Amino acid sequence: MGWASTGEGELEKPDSLICQAAQRGNSSSRMEGKACYLNRPKVELHVHLDGSFKPETIIHFAKRRQIKIPADTAEELIRIVSYNEPLTLTEFLTKFNYYMPAIAGDREAIKRVAYEFLEMKAKEGVVYVEVRYSPHFLANSKVDPIPWGQKEGDITPDDVVNLVNQGLREGEKAFNIKARSILCCMRHMPNWSLEVVELCKKYQNDTVVAIDLAGDESLNLEAAPGHRKAYEEAVRCGIHRTVHAGEVGPPSVVKEAVEVLKAERIGHGYHTIEDPHLYKELLNKKMHFEVCNVFTFMIMDCHK
Ligand SMILES: [Zn+2]
Repeated sequence: MGWASTGEGELEKPDSLICQAAQRGNSSSRMEGKACYLNRPKVELHVHLDGSFKPETIIHFAKRRQIKIPADTAEELIRIVSYNEPLTLTEFLTKFNYYMPAIAGDREAIKRVAYEFLEMKAKEGVVYVEVRYSPHFLANSKVDPIPWGQKEGDITPDDVVNLVNQGLREGEKAFNIKARSILCCMRHMPNWSLEVVELCKKYQNDTVVAIDLAGDESLNLEAAPGHRKAYEEAVRCGIHRTVHAGEVGPPSVVKEAVEVLKAERIGHGYHTIEDPHLYKELLNKKMHFEVCNVFTFMIMDCHK
């Protein structure tokens, strides 16, 4: 996804909560007048499912499940999630606390957000998408700790992958789009990572194409061997690997992603350029950097 100058023809308005919030927050900024999407077929390789829910769907499930979130209407929710000044990555991620409880731990909701995600992407002209998410963040059983203050239920991380896959398969047919998924390990949860790689193996032929590591880059990888072990297993089993690195962290995080975790693609990687030697090395290796200009603009560390 990228902000771009208006192309020919009519542009679709974005539907997802985060994108609408970004548009609203930046309406008076230098992004004004820019269109969200080009009217060309697109391939999107770095997009988070849990950042792409429709606000109406969040409100619907919050009401139906009687889960308290800080908004009663979609418009109110967009306002709460919006921001006018660039945030730090950590500040940005706290916004997830507002709405994740409405979707996590509900079979119908999880399947529906995956299905609707493809509806939105098809409207944006995306023909192939790799969507990523943490299965643990949407579970309420066999996950420690249970996220978002949920009560224990019966949806395991394995169930989550199954439900997302169902939504994606149905969405592919309904909206004529090809979708694959990437399962995320979270840097602050190294105890989840071995299960993530096992899920990648189990669902390797059922939409899942790769493993990812997301979250706070300041956390020391050496102190959390769970991630390294999961990536070693991914290498052993031929699971593709991408890692969020150098988005807000220094080039050493990128180096570690490539050398220790054997990443084949780097999520963002902007700070790589601060180490010219590493930058040249990765250029020679033809490393793929998954970049997102709008998100870079919106988080403070990259905005500086
Ligand atoms: Zn990301």
